Amino acid sequence: MASNSSNRLLLLIIIGIFSGIVLGGFLPETGRAVAFLGELFLRALFVMVVPLVMSSMIVGVSSLGDVRKLGQLGGRTILFFMTTTAIAVAIGLLLVLVIHPGVPLESMDTSHATSETVSERMEDKPTTLGDLLKTILTNMVPQNLFAAMANTDVLPLIVFSLIFGGILTTIGEQGHIVIRLFEGINEAIMGIVHLLMWVAPIGIGTLIAGRLGEAGGFAGFWPQLQTLGAYAGTVILALLLHGLIILPIALRFLGKQSVPDYAKVMSAALMTAFSTSSSSATMPLTIESLIEKGNISRRTVSFVIPLGATINMNGTALYEAVAAVFIAQSYGIELGLGETIIVLLTATLSAIGAAGIPEAGLVTMVIVLKAVDLPIEGVSLILVIDWFLDRCRTTINVWSDAVGAAVIDRAEGNQEKA
Ligand code: ASP
Repeated sequence: MASNSSNRLLLLIIIGIFSGIVLGGFLPETGRAVAFLGELFLRALFVMVVPLVMSSMIVGVSSLGDVRKLGQLGGRTILFFMTTTAIAVAIGLLLVLVIHPGVPLESMDTSHATSETVSERMEDKPTTLGDLLKTILTNMVPQNLFAAMANTDVLPLIVFSLIFGGILTTIGEQGHIVIRLFEGINEAIMGIVHLLMWVAPIGIGTLIAGRLGEAGGFAGFWPQLQTLGAYAGTVILALLLHGLIILPIALRFLGKQSVPDYAKVMSAALMTAFSTSSSSATMPLTIESLIEKGNISRRTVSFVIPLGATINMNGTALYEAVAAVFIAQSYGIELGLGETIIVLLTATLSAIGAAGIPEAGLVTMVIVLKAVDLPIEGVSLILVIDWFLDRCRTTINVWSDAVGAAVIDRAEGNQEKA
């Protein structure tokens, strides 16, 4: 995409966001009335996810040439994701311990807390790390490919596509025909995503207007923010430190990319992440932006982004750690060093298990709470503001996937330029 049209798109998205905030903030009812346009945008993004993940992965793995390269690419990707996630959690922990946003429950306004929703949300979900790991491993092997597709269950599709793509390269001419077919599917889906970019300003704007309208406009949102201001502020500050300092350092020094240019390339995807609260829904735009404008090889993007959108959740892990410690502080429970380290480890791992959909992190946070024996009902204290923090952490999740793609592409020797 030419840089002029990129600038125009960015400007339109900013206008969309601004209009959405004003509309939803001051005229909540109108905000709610236009929300269906955002819903349409969201659906259009989601419908791309399955064909895009499968075709990207199949084409990507078949272009590696030597299947051993997959091990190296996979190893580097996981190492980067785990390291940045652990750093994000450490930042969150440091801030929540220093700022100490939790005050004893007696002095806190808990009128917003609801315990019913908590138990509803936790139903049938793994609540210990062992259960979570078992669930992740079991889910990697789909029992029914079409059921996995129908549920947009990305992890089993990734695993299947990797194996399928690898095998296609070993069966000669017939395999090549199928690879060509998936190349065509991939190109076509990317073409649709390219078109979708141009409706993103309306989609993003109306999603924001709708959600703000649902919160009762500024008049409804402001009290929510005030009650949990110190907690929300701690999460946001920690996300900003990670997103604006740590990840840019990795991008500049390991990925050898210009930070402002890369942020501009990713702007539409990042704002989509904020408005949809879903890494999965944003994935098509992330892939399109990085391949078309980000100068990152298609092979790296095809592998790193679907995997990242599914398992790499820097923002979610950070939030889970802050939330767990906030809950402990609110219940007057002091965590020792050993327990703080358990929070660090479980938050890092349980974020991997969170799906790239809205408020998934809230559910896997129970694992962190249980690991250090904190009351699960504590989740009800933070529910009311979660919709907003979810948007913030999803944006960082998507940004860290994109930074990962640059760093890994460089490590794989795919970028000549410094
Ligand atoms: N909504 C987040 C995402 O899609 C996951 C979460 O933290 O709830 O990345």
